[in-house]
Amino acid sequence: MNPFSVEGKLALVTGGSRGIGLGCAKALLTAGADVILVARNELELKHTAASLRTIGRSVHVAAFDLTSTEKIADWYSASCESIGTPDVLVNAAGISRRGPAVDLKLDDWNAVMTLNATAIFELSRSFARRLKQEHRPGRVINIASLMTAAARPGTSPYTASKGAVGQLTKVLAVEWAADGILVNAIAPGYIDTDLNKALISDPNFDKWVKGRCPLGRWGTPDDIAEPVVFLASPASKFITGQVIYVDGGWLATF
Ligand code: NDP
Repeated sequence: MNPFSVEGKLALVTGGSRGIGLGCAKALLTAGADVILVARNELELKHTAASLRTIGRSVHVAAFDLTSTEKIADWYSASCESIGTPDVLVNAAGISRRGPAVDLKLDDWNAVMTLNATAIFELSRSFARRLKQEHRPGRVINIASLMTAAARPGTSPYTASKGAVGQLTKVLAVEWAADGILVNAIAPGYIDTDLNKALISDPNFDKWVKGRCPLGRWGTPDDIAEPVVFLASPASKFITGQVIYVDGGWLATF
């Protein structure tokens, strides 16, 4: 058996309609999994799913706003009843709101913390509860950030939320290890996605990223997706509670 294959697994990918989530869905499908894509915009999800089906695996869509955190448990149960119980959960949906800490509205803080931290907690425990009931193993892969380890001015809610993702990864890993549910995070460096549109089109920022990153470029969703497949596969069976930085060497230099 190929230890890097995820053949026969069902993976739920939040933020699966574009960017890093879409890259993860594509890579998981290519490695043999079926996927469920989650995001708010149903039309975009259906469009994405149609193009991914050319890979030849099953692609389901489940439109849902993960900031409705009190509805996550029921929504997740209903989705398992209609589609099946996922073996792999990739928590990729995330947002950022930038601005000096002294000026940011509390609403901005709450919006970022709700999606980037609270929703991950709520969805991950819905995922684990079901697997425990069914006595099945599983994998949770959280998308963290460089900001899990370091900070830049103007990113207080995002940095706090990604710090929370790092620690949540560790505590859920130790709580669920005995059930065979492994929990890890991939922490991307700067990746060329919609989230960074404004930064990519700013020539000064673009130059700074390319100069600051030892590998000399923005990352791509594929750069993140392939390590995610590794963490979903039998090849990573002794890895849990880790935050793996996939950042072109960014944190290795200063
Ligand atoms: P994008 O903005 O390209 O995509 C975000 C995805 O999340 C979309 O599918 C979006 O779909 C979905 N989403 C947003 N809000 C919600 C919501 N309330 N409920 C459900 N889905 C939602 O982001 P990226 O791909 O760049 O980022 C993905 C993850 O990677 C995030 O967690 C981000 O913090 C992290 N990351 C990104 C980096 C980068 O440089 N790009 C670097 C480090 C980490 P819709 O709008 O339809 O809901």
